[in-house]
Amino acid sequence: MKNKRVRVRFAPSPTGPLHMGGVRTALYNYLFAKKNNGDFLLRIEDTDQSRYVEGSEKYIVDSLRWCGISPDEGVGVNNSITDSGPHSPYRQSKRKDIYRPYVEKLIRSGHAYMAFDTPEELSEIRDKSKKAGNPNWQYNSITRASMKNSLTLSAEDVNNKLLSKTPYVVRVKMPHGVEIKFHDEVRGWVSVNSVNVDDKVLMKGDGLPTYHLANVVDDHLMEISHVIRGEEWLPSAPLHVILYDYFQWERPIFAHLPLLLRPDGNGKLSKRDGDKLGFPVFPLNWSHPETKETASGYKEFGFYPEGFVNMLAFLGWNPGTNQEIFSLEELVSSFNLQKVSKAGARFDYDKARWFNQQQLRIRDESLLIDEFVNSIKLKYGISIQNEWAKKALYLFMDRAEFMNQIVTDCYYLFEDPVDYDSKMVEKKWSLNAQLWLKDLAHIFSKTSYSSDEIEASFKNYLNSNSLKFSELGPVLRLAIAGKTQGPSIFTVMELIGKDISEIRINNAITTLN
Ligand code: GLU
Repeated sequence: MKNKRVRVRFAPSPTGPLHMGGVRTALYNYLFAKKNNGDFLLRIEDTDQSRYVEGSEKYIVDSLRWCGISPDEGVGVNNSITDSGPHSPYRQSKRKDIYRPYVEKLIRSGHAYMAFDTPEELSEIRDKSKKAGNPNWQYNSITRASMKNSLTLSAEDVNNKLLSKTPYVVRVKMPHGVEIKFHDEVRGWVSVNSVNVDDKVLMKGDGLPTYHLANVVDDHLMEISHVIRGEEWLPSAPLHVILYDYFQWERPIFAHLPLLLRPDGNGKLSKRDGDKLGFPVFPLNWSHPETKETASGYKEFGFYPEGFVNMLAFLGWNPGTNQEIFSLEELVSSFNLQKVSKAGARFDYDKARWFNQQQLRIRDESLLIDEFVNSIKLKYGISIQNEWAKKALYLFMDRAEFMNQIVTDCYYLFEDPVDYDSKMVEKKWSLNAQLWLKDLAHIFSKTSYSSDEIEASFKNYLNSNSLKFSELGPVLRLAIAGKTQGPSIFTVMELIGKDISEIRINNAITTLN
């Protein structure tokens, strides 16, 4: 394995939008591939057509693209949802004919068998077993001896059944009482007794492979060196390992990633948790083509892909240093599977927003200004100049975690107050207040209306009238912005200019009296 080229794959099933846990799996695969100068493939595992949801493939491709982790091979290369690469097709539904010979090979070598038990017979035996106190009946290396399959029936019976086209499935023949052992890059040695692994179906009655068979055959044919996937697949790994051994193929290296847990630590962060808990669990907005159910995405929430990816990387991995802010390139060079934790990673939405805030802080200035100018145009229909935009942007940047928050918070740069914070009006407004404001408006009008000069003359006025800032500051703010919280009101006044400032002061005086 040492000299083998690193090839990893992300292999989602197109059954709906991609959960953020899935994006993390894709991300770790991507990071691992790039770190090792290898290939990152996207394969679509759509053998179960009954669970297929229209639009999910495009959603997956778009999500990876948004995160900047598009595949090198498979579906989604160059943002196209058609296949590309030497092992095409990369959609399992288009590879149907590939799998049958492998099933036949296993039957011939005695590692798989045909099972003719009808669904009714199987459910009857399960019911019986349940009544007898065993709710987990399995078709396995013990029970198969009493079932209707090519191991128990005579060759003649089997032949007759095949001739009469009796439906059957093909099951793997698990060894009995054997220790199945494999090394997992995250968990270390994993060992399972084969009695605990059932004789899973490899090929269904309709001749289509199940996930297990298609997954192993494709990983082999596509020369996958490392299988990096979610912990929910760990129970399937012993079966996969056995299949590699039965085929006499070299096993890939396995790495099972820890679960993403809900913020309270109680269980897995599920698809249904999104929105309900007040944060998205999907990368992009989604709308179900039939049920029209919707779910919100990080992108539309206002996250930068850089912030989202940085946050995701830390859900189950850490670099072993204090550094928390990473670009994608830095993640590539720091990533390694040994630093992936076994324990479930608890999702923390405050921390997620913090990651985005950090991206906002380090983002290229001209990029930020462009984003701000465009968003203002979109939201308020107003075109602003870059110089002005820069001042406004950094004025409101301080506590913001998202660009869209800045755009919303700065509304009073564009809109006159229509109402005033009633609590503060009650507390701070007085007959005196309007007299002071009249004075101030006059005094300010004599300045150049730069924030410095407005502020200096304001302080001057306080001093000469023995007023406290807390008496007059909030009053001025109320008049200009309608509320008493926010960044420097003097800079706000500079930005909106003399005419608008005066109009607002006059409006406040008439409205509040
Ligand atoms: N199709 C599986 C899924 O939807 C892939 C599991 C694997 O990576 O082996 O997650």
